[in-house]
Amino acid sequence: MPKQAHQADLQAIAVAANIAAIEAGREPSYRFKPELVCIVDTLDAGMLVFRNERFNFVGPKLKIFHWLKRIFERHDLTTFR
Ligand SMILES: Cc1cc2nc3c(=O)[nH]c(=O)nc-3n(C[C@H](O)[C@H](O)[C@H](O)COP(=O)(O)OP(=O)(O)OC[C@H]3O[C@@H](n4cnc5c(N)ncnc54)[C@H](O)[C@@H]3O)c2cc1C
Repeated sequence: MPKQAHQADLQAIAVAANIAAIEAGREPSYRFKPELVCIVDTLDAGMLVFRNERFNFVGPKLKIFHWLKRIFERHDLTTFR
């Protein structure tokens, strides 16, 4: 399973929780969930891929996923802009 942005988010949450635990004098025991949620964009359409320890789903190529990916991209980049 490749590391994509959703996995990076889950890892970042685990890192933040572990730093908070250390600061509070506790053991850093928070683990991240291995999970891939990604839209593969082919510019005219897109495919949803979902993988975790229990499921492996690759959806059909649909136009809606290209537009959803563009909406997510704009939403995510707004934070940094
Ligand atoms: C070409 C490409 C396309 C991709 N497309 C997608 C996609 O469509 N959808 C998707 O979900 N994921 C995509 N990904 C994957 C996604 O970008 C990564 O999984 C995600 O960015 C990893 O996040 P991260 O925070 O772990 O690492 P990064 O985003 O790499 O962040 C690490 C940060 O640490 C900084 N850094 C490194 N060393 C040091 C140091 N010594 N001191 C201080 N700072 C340092 C770096 O400058 C960087 O800012 C793509 C990746 C690539 C390369």
